[in-house]
Amino acid sequence: MQALTALVEQALAEVGGCTDLGALDEARVRWLGKKGALTEQLKSLGGLPAAERPAAGARINEAKVRLQAAIEARRERLGREEIERSLAAGRIDVTLPGRGETRGGLHPVTKARLRIEALFRRAGFDVATGPEVEDDFHNFEALNFPPNHPARAMHDTFYFPDGKLLRTHTSPVQIRAMLERGAPIAVIAPGRVYRCDSDMTHSPMFHQVEGLKVGEGVSFANLKAILHGFLQAFFERDLAMRLRPSFFPFTEPSAEVDMSCVFCDGKGCRTCKQTGWLEIAGCGMVHPNVLKASGIDAERFSGYAFGAGIDRLAMLRYGVSDLRLFFENDLRFLEQFRTL
Ligand SMILES: [Zn+2]
Repeated sequence: MQALTALVEQALAEVGGCTDLGALDEARVRWLGKKGALTEQLKSLGGLPAAERPAAGARINEAKVRLQAAIEARRERLGREEIERSLAAGRIDVTLPGRGETRGGLHPVTKARLRIEALFRRAGFDVATGPEVEDDFHNFEALNFPPNHPARAMHDTFYFPDGKLLRTHTSPVQIRAMLERGAPIAVIAPGRVYRCDSDMTHSPMFHQVEGLKVGEGVSFANLKAILHGFLQAFFERDLAMRLRPSFFPFTEPSAEVDMSCVFCDGKGCRTCKQTGWLEIAGCGMVHPNVLKASGIDAERFSGYAFGAGIDRLAMLRYGVSDLRLFFENDLRFLEQFRTL
């Protein structure tokens, strides 16, 4: 029994000296494991006289329980210390200043669109929007493209199985605006449009802005003035503008709009193919059939309409040569516009 007391003292001292959970576990195996010192004591009970066995067994068991409790207490303490150590090591000082934030910027096409909207709002136009999935009536029929009209072939249209389509221009917004608000009306409709086309200057999705003004006595001269004024304001410079006769089903007469090249001031360069002119928009007087389809009295009211590519306007304003750069989302490209 003297020996047992000494063993327990030694075991408790060892447990108390363990400084990490690994060492503690080793100590537990050494004392309480299958071949541990206390377990050996229990096994040796068989060698004692029968009368002494119960008392000795009880003392050994008591010693075991005491040692187990000591190991448990030590384990708990070491575990707590370990958590505290790892918390202290991973501590975050929330009072430290941040490492700096990278501010986002608007996409150059978005910048161009916002600029166009601001300029036309100043000239008395509202901004109208409409669905990108359109029906044949709003995209073609109401715009004076009857079924089988050859002008429909000018558009490589994405059709859905149910006959709906991705709008090929923003002109259907004009129809919706006229049907909804009647005349007089002055709106621009900026937005995404879709055509089956992809190369350096064409993308299957691109941005257009359409303008429409209908009222009494609205003339071609008004159209010319608003376009010229817009181009000079958008490019922030004096530039010449010219109109060339053209054809669109929804306007009559129709014209293509050229402006003097912003890169060479009309002297001739690669961008304008040495002509000094850049094609920038299409326009015309709203066809009476379109006014009628939109529920407007074509005898009383007249109107003009124009359409231009926002991407093209952005390319010319920022000097971007490849349209695809706008849609590749390469940050090295986009970041250049952050402060513009
Ligand atoms: Zn030029």
